[in-house]
Amino acid sequence: MTILDTARKIMHEGPICDHCLGRQFAKLSTGLSNDQRGQALRITLAMQASAGKDDALQEELAKSTQNKCWVCNNLFNHLDSWAEKAVSGLSDYEYDNFLVGTKVTGLLAENEEIIWAESGTTFAEPLKTELNREVGKRIEKITGKKANLKKPQIVALLDLENDTVELEINSLYIYGRYRKLVRGIPQTRWPCRECGGKGCERCDNTGKMYQESVDELIKPHLMEAARSEDTAFHGAGREDIDALMLGDGRPFVVEAKKPHVRKIDLGALASEINSKAEDKIEVLGLKFVESETVEQLKSMKADKVYRLKIVHATTEEKLKSSIDILSGTIIKQKTPTRVLHRRADLERMRKVHSIDLESFETDTAVLVVNCEGGLYVKELVSGDGGRTVPSVAFLTGSEAKVIELEVLKVG
Ligand SMILES: [Zn+2]
Ligand SMILES: [Zn+2]
Repeated sequence: MTILDTARKIMHEGPICDHCLGRQFAKLSTGLSNDQRGQALRITLAMQASAGKDDALQEELAKSTQNKCWVCNNLFNHLDSWAEKAVSGLSDYEYDNFLVGTKVTGLLAENEEIIWAESGTTFAEPLKTELNREVGKRIEKITGKKANLKKPQIVALLDLENDTVELEINSLYIYGRYRKLVRGIPQTRWPCRECGGKGCERCDNTGKMYQESVDELIKPHLMEAARSEDTAFHGAGREDIDALMLGDGRPFVVEAKKPHVRKIDLGALASEINSKAEDKIEVLGLKFVESETVEQLKSMKADKVYRLKIVHATTEEKLKSSIDILSGTIIKQKTPTRVLHRRADLERMRKVHSIDLESFETDTAVLVVNCEGGLYVKELVSGDGGRTVPSVAFLTGSEAKVIELEVLKVG
């Protein structure tokens, strides 16, 4: 069947607009809009009718534009008003790019099925593809912003049923490193063990085990700068609550959810966070990143350097020979007893690259351990009742335990 035959068959189904007619041939000839395709087909058919003195076709052509388009119900007459509606919603937000999406009604979806089946066309594109593109072009024209199919900052969703535009505001991601300069602060909010976060006597009705966290020391300042609804904190691993995080800090990404503002002065934000944190934490090297950085951060198996203060009951000589053995050794480690209640009981192998003895006293010593990420260093010292082998305790044949822990370097 020729294209004109198919077009004629489509027109025979009922009144149809140029957009809907042309869309059935959308995959043919680039550089045209569907209404141009529809118009061209209509003109060609009109000439054909005139040349062949085909009165039936002439009548059908005349009728087909007199009435409401049965496929889209004249939706395509309202492209400008949809664009204006979207632009007015978008005006509350700062963005560089956007995407238009459409929630089609059941009726329109059904009409589309019918026309495809009846005409047998294989060159059509879906109604919503055209609508998204046409409304998108108009928004681009009004706002000067670009449509972005891959990673839009905002999706304007045309809800045809309810005649509204819903906005999906994608998060803004900021990478940085944090230093934790005091002990007793968890990385993220830790719900009260007693009440599970509802608030009780034990937690002084805060619902929290600890009053502050690295996350919560950053959150209010980012929420204010980005005018966002909330934030989410993603750390590259975490140190123990009682451990310091020193050196150049631990990498993290903080996500501002539904931000109104995206062009934030990150230097000013870092100063604000740091001055309000009163030397408990410090953030550095803030920069904008894409959402993928969160995944990269989570799967990062970075090496770590720790400084451990330990108590021991051994001699300097024995301690030195034990750390010589541990340096360069792969440690076999079952999930530590202290975290077994919330972690699966697994066995892992992690390498200790080197251990240096920084200082030695009669019953304390300071070690600097450079090891693979994921090694539980407290257990590297204590042996955890034989669940970590080898260990300082095992090799010196006496008890040993970490009493202070600082993370000097991540990555
Ligand atoms: Zn139509
Ligand atoms: Zn509580």
